[in-house]
Amino acid sequence: ALLKRCLPGLDERASPVARAPARPQLSAQALREGMARGQLVMHYQPQVRLSDGAVTGIEALVRWQHPDHGLLYPDAFIRMAESEGLALELTEAVLQATLHDCAECFRQGMALPTVSINLPPEALTEVSFPDRVMQRLAELRIPARHIAFELTETSLSGEPITALDILTRLRLKGIHLAIDDFGVGYSSMEQLQKLPFTELKIDRQFVQGLGSSASADAIVRRTIGLGHDLHLKVLAEGIETLEQWRALQALGCDLGQGYLIARPLPRPALAAWLAGWIPPALG
Ligand code: C2E
Ligand code: MG
Ligand code: MG
Ligand code: MG
Repeated sequence: ALLKRCLPGLDERASPVARAPARPQLSAQALREGMARGQLVMHYQPQVRLSDGAVTGIEALVRWQHPDHGLLYPDAFIRMAESEGLALELTEAVLQATLHDCAECFRQGMALPTVSINLPPEALTEVSFPDRVMQRLAELRIPARHIAFELTETSLSGEPITALDILTRLRLKGIHLAIDDFGVGYSSMEQLQKLPFTELKIDRQFVQGLGSSASADAIVRRTIGLGHDLHLKVLAEGIETLEQWRALQALGCDLGQGYLIARPLPRPALAAWLAGWIPPALG
């Protein structure tokens, strides 16, 4: 059964080879048109508690259903969007698609865990962002505690007062805040203890070095300790093997996500996955 669960999800890229084809030339104009035509779709990857496998969240990951090039992954267009000044428009489109999906799940009576949405650094420069988010949530009757935002460490290197103000207002409304890809970027300990984060996500490169790289082991162990000292939940990204799950659990890591558990799935496949998920025997 576990083996079956490890098999690639429906239309998620099945092997590294699927990433290889030459990249289409994508323009800002094409992305604007794509967004206007509703071509951005969200796939959702489950997040589980490592002690018992209970599902605690799902991360929304954007894909572009391109009419000529097929399903495109973020590495094909996020950097272009950000360098062409489209980061905020993309964020709007992502929020709209994700919150629409959430509202639909609630309407169908699905028990939805926390939904995590990735934000670009630009979102922390816009003082009106928290109010806009709260208004959207109110319209769709989605409780704020069902939403988490994921930000990378580089998001915090801009205007620190504005970022702190925006994050604090989101947190006061009940939205959860995660530091994404921890360990890859630069963040000062001072910043970490000042900002109202609730979760720390260990980057998958450290998780994948577990057991084979002494430095990865040390980094993961220390990061879990640091997160807990700062009263953060710690989530490990990129869990691909049961050995990694067990090692992380033994180190006291709270949560995890990765291909072992599930690949990012389109909404209908997610509903089926949530209904059928049986955690591996842990013990
Ligand atoms: P991220 O937020 O760190 O997301 C995790 C990435 O790791 C996802 O790639 C996910 O599919 C992949 N992943 C999850 N589990 C495993 C695993 O076990 N093994 C391996 N090898 N990979 C795994 P994806 O969907 O291609 O997204 C890449 C990055 O693009 C994200 O990294 C995030 O930084 C960005 N991104 C994705 N969606 C959005 C979005 O809606 N808005 C913004 N601003 N950025 C996004
Ligand atoms: Mg993320
Ligand atoms: Mg990440
Ligand atoms: Mg990442």
